[in-house]
Amino acid sequence: MSYDKPIPTPGLHTAPFWDGAKVGKLMLPRCIDCNRVHWYPRHLCPWCHSNRLEWIEASGEGTLYSFAVQYTAFGGWSREIPFVSAYIDLKEGDRMLTVLRGVDPAAPEQIRVGMPVRIFFEPADDNVHIPFWRPIED
Ligand SMILES: [Zn+2]
Repeated sequence: MSYDKPIPTPGLHTAPFWDGAKVGKLMLPRCIDCNRVHWYPRHLCPWCHSNRLEWIEASGEGTLYSFAVQYTAFGGWSREIPFVSAYIDLKEGDRMLTVLRGVDPAAPEQIRVGMPVRIFFEPADDNVHIPFWRPIED
């Protein structure tokens, strides 16, 4: 089935992220002055307001910070309910809002805050691959 949800448009401040996503790499913006990464991409560091930014290839690993089971949604997402939305603490710093795959929304008691997770990407079209996260199997 083709991807039937909103597809982001890569722009000046996000193109490196989407270029990495196409080849399965998580690229994160990092501030050259304070050395902190941030998510989402923007033209100034949210921590120190420097505009001296670079992109790094991140590990693609993180831990689950928080989650919620979604029972309502619109558009293409309505065909996936219930699904689990989640905040991921990135290993390199900052936090990403995402959809957590590889878990059972009907058994949220099996989803643990702090569980290790890894990013993966699903193609939405030829240009844009969407990031999702799933638990790291032991
Ligand atoms: Zn900074």
